[in-house]
Amino acid sequence: MNASDALRLLQTPLTELDSLLQAAGEARDRRSGKRLTYSPKVFLPVTNLCRDKCAYCTFRKSPREAGAKTMTLDEIKEVSAQGVHLRCSEALMCLGDRPEAVYPTYQEHLRRMGVETTAEYVYEACVVALNQGLLPHTNAGLLTKTEMEHLRPVNVSMGLMLEQITPRLRERGMAHAGAPDKEPALRIQMLEEAGQLKIPFTTGILAGIGETLEEQIDTLLEIDRIHKRYGHLQEVIVQTFRAKPDIVMRDHLEMEDWELVRLVAVARLLLPDMNVQAPPNLTPLAHRLLIRAGINDWGGISPVTQDFINPEAPWPHIESLRQTCALEGFRLEARLPVYAEYLDWVDPGLALSVQKNAERIAHVAA
Ligand code: SF4
Repeated sequence: MNASDALRLLQTPLTELDSLLQAAGEARDRRSGKRLTYSPKVFLPVTNLCRDKCAYCTFRKSPREAGAKTMTLDEIKEVSAQGVHLRCSEALMCLGDRPEAVYPTYQEHLRRMGVETTAEYVYEACVVALNQGLLPHTNAGLLTKTEMEHLRPVNVSMGLMLEQITPRLRERGMAHAGAPDKEPALRIQMLEEAGQLKIPFTTGILAGIGETLEEQIDTLLEIDRIHKRYGHLQEVIVQTFRAKPDIVMRDHLEMEDWELVRLVAVARLLLPDMNVQAPPNLTPLAHRLLIRAGINDWGGISPVTQDFINPEAPWPHIESLRQTCALEGFRLEARLPVYAEYLDWVDPGLALSVQKNAERIAHVAA
């Protein structure tokens, strides 16, 4: 499908949404049948310090701000153990971008812990989570190729949201004006380097942050281009901006649920062979529509920890999500943080951990 065909679909009015959903749902069914998946996880916000200032973010803190926090390895261990107890398999390492670049006190803190960079500390955290029995998936923002290479043996997969490829959002007054790590060219470079390293990788689009419909299509097409070249993008997240009272973009209009559903459907039709995912906690009233729009995965859901990026949005109860899926004719199954089609790519040193986690989540799915 070319850009103008995709744009035409993305301009489908609400009154004609049904036929778009029908086509997208059929494309998903051809790919993955009547099966929807999720990854039982613990969310480990290794540090909420960040050198960027995205205008929609409530997660980041400066070192002196209330709530600023870098987890200790003991805390990583404790939360990971709880996750194993509750039959999770994914340890999501999610954190701010390279805070040591701008905060000397944090740099000192890292040194006291025996490392120089956040990426090195994340490596230590991954080892702790692995030793507890979980499978790490790291999303640490922009990483160098060397850092990814270092983290690869302790991660079954990694991730970086592309978000949007228009450089317009870096301009003054826009969502990424204060976020050098959101420079699209740098993120594209990291996605390509992850492909060169053959790391099973998660990316996605963050919609509703000031981009146009044309720019949404450009972003999806760029994801398609990168995946066609390297084949490593194991899933594409379609996520929407949410307004919150304490963000710079507090007055920015949110996309309506049906507009997100329409974008999911277009993503499915543009990327028919991909795993397409929408986080269920951000659109609690649209689960059935999201299924009709062609998702085949709900992403990570935690019985242990909140979504630290969107703390106001609780995870759905798995049983209630299972019932919703059943109403649409789908069965819900737990999956590993690396999709089955990428298991051969995982570092051989993680094979035993993968096997044990597969056995653990088989009980969740039963
Ligand atoms: S969204 Fe990510 S990169 Fe942007 S400020 Fe928040 S933590 Fe930092």
